[in-house]
Amino acid sequence: SDKRLLEIRIMSYGDRQLLLIARDITRIHQLEGMRKDFVANVSHELKTPLTVLQGYLEIMQGMEDDDSPNQKPLLLMQQQTSRMQSMVEQLLALSRIEDAIDVDLSKMVNMQAMMEVLKEEAVALAGSEYTLEFNCEPGLNTHGNELQLRSACSNLISNAIRYTAPGGVISVTWRSVATGALFSVKDTGVGIAPQHINRLTERFYRVDNARSSKTGGTGLGLAIAKHALSHHHSELNVTSEYGKGSTFSFIIPTHLLERQ
Ligand code: ADP
Repeated sequence: SDKRLLEIRIMSYGDRQLLLIARDITRIHQLEGMRKDFVANVSHELKTPLTVLQGYLEIMQGMEDDDSPNQKPLLLMQQQTSRMQSMVEQLLALSRIEDAIDVDLSKMVNMQAMMEVLKEEAVALAGSEYTLEFNCEPGLNTHGNELQLRSACSNLISNAIRYTAPGGVISVTWRSVATGALFSVKDTGVGIAPQHINRLTERFYRVDNARSSKTGGTGLGLAIAKHALSHHHSELNVTSEYGKGSTFSFIIPTHLLERQ
């Protein structure tokens, strides 16, 4: 209990001077742990009542005539409960990924198979209104946690679709580069102004709340992606031009790759 957690920074000034700064972050670390537990517990507790509400709303809808004036409010209530349900799911997913220590990276993830699954998901979400391009370098696989990687990739793809108007093009690529393997999702969507780029992976951060809430997201997708990627020694890279489109990508480093 008397163990302290210190954050130490060493900075060099010129050739001869080093500055060492030590900061006691024990309390910050404890508070962060309490915050995470709280979020995980609350999300878990909310699951059951939401399922009950959803169930009864469906029953009530079935009991009303199709032209009943109650149908519209019932439908709205159902939509909002299912939105809350996906938020709770995402919060739980985030706390699971945040808490994961020593993620097992020994298993091989077949990237060609994963790209097929991602493509099916994307087709279901986008319908026929978008051009979807998937390019996967054959035999280029990685070690890692398949669920976490898939959730990162799938969040990037669903964002690309949701923030691109129908008629747009979404290109998804998995290929080798000098430092590893690159996964990238390029869209011709709304784009993001430079001042927002650094904050996108914060929990609940949304560039334009009015527009984002219409797209049905939760503001947690990129936070989940960031944590999943950090477990794979990788980080999210974003380039975007406001009004023209964005590219979200990450590189899995060479030491995790397996080529066949
Ligand atoms: P959300 O559920 O709101 O989509 P995310 O964490 O996935 O939450 O993304 C955070 C915010 O980043 C979004 O609300 C949106 O404003 C912006 N964003 C994410 N992806 C894109 C994209 N491909 N094009 C434009 N904006 C994006």
